[in-house]
Amino acid sequence: SSQQLYLGMDFGTSGARYVLIDKQGMTYAEGKREYPPCMSGNTVDWTSSWKMALFLLLEDIPVSLRPFIASISIDGTSATTIIVDSNTGEPLCRPFLYNESCPDALPMVKSIAPENHTVCSGSSTLCKLVSWWNSDNSNKNSAILLHQADWLLWLLHGRLGVSDYNNALKVGYDPEIDSYPRSLLSQPYSQMLPSVKAPGTSIGSITEDIRKQFGFPKDCVVCTGTTDSIAAFLAARATEPGKAVTSLGSTLAVKLLSTSRIEDARYGVYSHRLDDKWLVGGASNTGGAVLRQIFSDTQLEELSEQINPMESSPLDYYPLPAVGERFPVADPKMEPRLHPRPQSDVEYLHGILESIARIEAKAYGLLEELGASKVEEVFTAGGGAKNEKWRKIRERVLGLPVSRAIQTEAAYGAALLALKGFQGRSPTTPRTE
Ligand code: ADP
Repeated sequence: SSQQLYLGMDFGTSGARYVLIDKQGMTYAEGKREYPPCMSGNTVDWTSSWKMALFLLLEDIPVSLRPFIASISIDGTSATTIIVDSNTGEPLCRPFLYNESCPDALPMVKSIAPENHTVCSGSSTLCKLVSWWNSDNSNKNSAILLHQADWLLWLLHGRLGVSDYNNALKVGYDPEIDSYPRSLLSQPYSQMLPSVKAPGTSIGSITEDIRKQFGFPKDCVVCTGTTDSIAAFLAARATEPGKAVTSLGSTLAVKLLSTSRIEDARYGVYSHRLDDKWLVGGASNTGGAVLRQIFSDTQLEELSEQINPMESSPLDYYPLPAVGERFPVADPKMEPRLHPRPQSDVEYLHGILESIARIEAKAYGLLEELGASKVEEVFTAGGGAKNEKWRKIRERVLGLPVSRAIQTEAAYGAALLALKGFQGRSPTTPRTE
């Protein structure tokens, strides 16, 4: 066919979205759905709700575009875990949500994992798995673990037990050696671990049922996904080492593409693999939440207008919404510093924005100190990205080109993974070009 399109879907914390793009990255259609309320007794039936949102989004795609969809990929929230029957794919229990903690599993997990490994947190996928394994249940022999994205993708391709190394990091997969570590493979529950591919790898064709129901083409392939925050990074298309994305949301999160992998538990810094590179990340507690404690969004806009971004502010703050910071300063007792407050609100905001910019500079400086590639260019996402004065302040303080990311939707990043998976699909997959 003349035109091929690539479908990305994002299952985030508050709802699901889809984006349909072409090879050049142009958007043809997009849409959003809240998670429909599904109850099973008194508890929310999340798997039914996600499944329903998936099919609602597929129905939202214009019928005229569906025959052109060459591939599909999906991202989901990190560490959202579903344990299903390995024959039927039916959930064996309610899913464990991303932020749910299973501290009961920590001693066992800590006994097999390296110190400070990302699995040594109560909300890790591995803690969820171990907690399930240790609870009294009879389905152990026919159970398999999937992440949210894996399970949703399974609904489309029908092959159970496939994941990607971004989602699998929190269950203990080691992307460096491209395997689960031996300490994990020797556990009785190791047969529950999914097989792992690179994000954006073709898994297989879409099932006949789904293809017919929605009018997708015969050779439409389904590709492995990633986590929602990695998908949002991919959307910005920062594909070279040294390119970074700063997210100015409630908190300040930085992500930097690096040729080397770095980890430092003190700062909560770790790396995800992206093909032959590493996506290094850290998150500070400073950010928009503090701004919102002091100013309304309208005030933020009006006051920002009056700031001269070329002039440096003499005010040195460390804005935090509460006591405690982890990155780029590891100090759980750190006090917010927002004084002295000048008479002028313009000067006050200028001081706060510039102080946050210095924290951002320190964050990238620390990543470099820990061994990551040197940052060369920064794209910006989140609510603070629209502030042009702040962008100029940050450019001056960072001494780097800073721009607003053109695309920031995770679903757009998932669509890029669908494109990647289509282009790299195995030659045995029928081709149409
Ligand atoms: P979340 O992390 O909650 O998803 P968003 O990405 O939606 O956050 O960003 C919201 C934040 O953006 C708010 O905390 C607010 O302080 C900040 N914000 C909104 N407008 C502006 C502005 N004009 N300048 C700087 N920050 C802004």
